[in-house]
Formats: sequence, C-alpha cells, structure tokens
Amino acid sequence: LEQDALSRKKYNIHISGNNIPTPLQNFAELSSRYGCEPYLIRNLAKMGFKEPTPIQRQAIPVLLSGQECFACAPTGSGKTLAFVCPMLMKLKHASNDGIRAVIICPTRELAAQTSRESKKLAKGKKLCIKLMTRQLLRSADLSKLPCDILISTPLRLRLSVRKKKLDLSKVEYLVLDESDKLFEEGLLKQIDSVVKACSNPSIIRSMFSATLPDFVEELARTIMHDAVRIIVGRKNT
Ligand code: ADP
Ligand code: MG
Repeated sequence: LEQDALSRKKYNIHISGNNIPTPLQNFAELSSRYGCEPYLIRNLAKMGFKEPTPIQRQAIPVLLSGQECFACAPTGSGKTLAFVCPMLMKLKHASNDGIRAVIICPTRELAAQTSRESKKLAKGKKLCIKLMTRQLLRSADLSKLPCDILISTPLRLRLSVRKKKLDLSKVEYLVLDESDKLFEEGLLKQIDSVVKACSNPSIIRSMFSATLPDFVEELARTIMHDAVRIIVGRKNT
C-alpha cells in the first residue's frame, strides 16, 4: 500500500474512493496480473507504446476491477487507451448479443479518431467495432446491428435509439469521453437519454476529460455511484 502511494506520487496521480487497485507498473502486468491475451500486448508494442502513461496506470486497473470512475488527465496523455484497453480485455470475444460497449465523443472527428485507435488496438481479434456514421444512421434497421463496441456522437446515438430502435439495454460498458465538453453545448439532454437507454443494471460507466469543473463532477456523481475519482496533475489545467 505504501508502494502504491509512492507510485501515485511519482506519476502525480490523485485518487479518492474505496478499494482502489495498485497502479500498473508496465504493460506486461496486463498479462501477469490480469491474463490479458497476447494480441493486445503485441498491438501495444507495434504501436510503439513502451510504458503506460499515468492515467493508464491507474484507470486501467480501476476499470478492470469493475469499478466505475471519472478521470481527469491532460490532453494528449493517452486517455483513449485508458478506457479502450480494459474494454477489450473485458469483452474478450465477439458476440451476437447486441451492443455491449458504447463510447460517446463530443464531435464526429473525435469519434472517428477513437474508432481508428480502437481498431488498431483490437487488430488480430475478432471484435466488431463500429463508428456511427451518417450512412449507418440512414440504414433501415439498426436493431440487429452486429457490433461489440459502438462509437458515436451523442446526437447520432440518440437519433438511432429513437428512430431506428437501436437497443442499448445490453450495454455493459459506457464511456463518456471529453465529458466536460459533452456536458456543455446543449448536449446534456442527449447524454441523459442515452444514459437512460443503457439500462443494464450491471453496467460500468466511466467518464474521461482534460478538465474537471465542479458542475462536471456533480453530474458525474449523479450518473455514477461510488465512482473512483482519478486526477492526473491538476484538476483544471
Ligand atoms: P487524450 O485523449 O488524453 O488527449 P489520446 O488518447 O488521444 O490522448 O493519446 C494521445 C497520443 O498518445 C496518441 O497518439 C496515442 O496513440 C498516444 N499514446 C497513448 N498511449 C501511449 C503510451 N502508453 N505511450 C506512448 N504514446 C501513447
Ligand atoms: Mg481524448
């Protein structure tokens, strides 16, 4: 435990919550501690990632432990991998049981970028990762969409839940990326309806952002219960 505190101090990780797991020391621990499949370790190496960033060190073990979290770490500090990596490890295999994970990003560009990064990380594994595009939104019936991970903006997701009967009731992992932006710009209503549509009682939600204004933290606490709070560096820089 003292070791954990030293490690958090070294990487400027601040936490609050209960039973927070030990930070990751390196990517090899994904295998030794969590039985991660070789494809993911291989992809991390191929992508040139030698060691986890501070947010990855703490957020990955928290999400793998099944706890909800909201996390704040600077732009460019590797937040995408911090939520995609545990998602890939938890979902394990493709399934035809409907959408099991959803990532919401505030803009189409960010959604496309997140989709590309997720696909790179999942390479060699038969998991179906889909970006909610305009074409997909136009297609007749989304209820039988083969998809393990769906990445979308809030607007497109809400439209497809409403009009195309996209079923989110099986979603096991919901990520709100850049949550500070999602909660601004009048997106709040759309987020709210998507969060409600993800009605699986054992869902694990998480929120990631570069800043954590008080109103975002308050919303995080209304959406999640007993969530772990992870801050890398300082809350508003
Ligand atoms: P953020 O969402 O925090 O702004 P990103 O997830 O977009 O940051 O990552 C920023 C860049 O860092 C990306 O190019 C990503 O591929 C790269 N990256 C992610 N994790 C690592 C790592 N462990 N080591 C080196 N580079 C990384
Ligand atoms: Mg990001």
